[in-house]
Amino acid sequence: MARPIRLDTVCKEYHTAGTTHVAVDDLSLEIPEGSFTTIVGPSGCGKTTTLRMIAGLETPTSGTIHFGDRDVTEVRPQDRNAAMVFQSIALYPHMTVRENIAYGLKVAGVPKAERDAAVDEAAETLQITEQLDKMPAELSGGQQQRVALGSAFVQDPDVLLLDEPMSDLDAKLKAELRVEVQRLHKEMDATMVYVTHDQTEAMTMSDHVLLLEEGRLAQFAPPGDLFDRPVSQYVAEFIGTPSTNTLPATVEAADDGPTIVGEQFEIPAPEDRFADRIGDSVTVGIRPQYLSPDEGDHRIRVIVNVVEQLGTEFVVHGTSVNGAHVNVVDESVDGAGPDDELSVGFEAADAFVFDEHGETIC
Ligand code: ATP
Repeated sequence: MARPIRLDTVCKEYHTAGTTHVAVDDLSLEIPEGSFTTIVGPSGCGKTTTLRMIAGLETPTSGTIHFGDRDVTEVRPQDRNAAMVFQSIALYPHMTVRENIAYGLKVAGVPKAERDAAVDEAAETLQITEQLDKMPAELSGGQQQRVALGSAFVQDPDVLLLDEPMSDLDAKLKAELRVEVQRLHKEMDATMVYVTHDQTEAMTMSDHVLLLEEGRLAQFAPPGDLFDRPVSQYVAEFIGTPSTNTLPATVEAADDGPTIVGEQFEIPAPEDRFADRIGDSVTVGIRPQYLSPDEGDHRIRVIVNVVEQLGTEFVVHGTSVNGAHVNVVDESVDGAGPDDELSVGFEAADAFVFDEHGETIC
């Protein structure tokens, strides 16, 4: 039965060669039962360490981990009813696919008829029924990873943990397997936690995203919130492709209230948030998708460097007059080329404003 996963002030330190490295720093959050959470963030931010602590493969230096009401902080991995699928596929080469998937059940003493039924169900869900009598070496990488997922599926875990299970696969297989993993989640009564480098995976597959920054929680929220309501410049820049444009500006006093003044734009600033910030330096963040040649009250000029076509959309990589890198994603920039000057607009409501510490003001 799926359980919520609660981390309370979890820290993990590694001590090597006389130095202490804090891999996970004061992490507190509750992952709702039965949900699908992805953990994302740059390399080394503590994703795998967090997952391994949930699995029981690492013990926190301090803090606690609960599955529902049960404190599992010190419980051995095999006694947590959690299954884990790793990036490198660990199949037994001398066993058939069926034997591989059933292995955990066999060790647990599950009778053969029950094992066979569970394997058949897993194979059907993962579309590998025709591979059941093959040996792992006869399978493609994508099929092997499906077998690894099948082994986890048949254990009927309360918690299913996946560590970059698709990172070795090509783009097409990844897309296919994403669908399988989501189907698996729907069919299983398990809380799923999935580590990935790939923010597209995170944004499209999961109902919650945990973004880490140097071992700390940057934001834990539904994917749409990280995109539309980032709590910091770090979140705004990490989530979304291409990255959020950032332009320097200053808060100034104007006749009709505080105004945010950049080199090429002035946008009204809500009185309640900016009245006591007059004179402050801020950063205005605008997503490339919210800049358009055809619309927007506030305009900036951009010199085009490169234009990429992505299906029906175009991505313009350019430079603003003050030298800031500016990306634009739009359907109507067809025809723009290197060295062209492009005027693009945005609405004040679509802009984020970050303070000098990178915290979102609005
Ligand atoms: P990646 O995306 O590169 O896999 P990650 O976000 O999963 O990275 P972790 O593997 O959790 O990051 O590592 C977090 C930090 O802890 C890194 O700086 C790493 O070097 C360090 N670290 C992880 N495991 C150990 C270990 N066993 N001993 C010492 N340091 C470690």
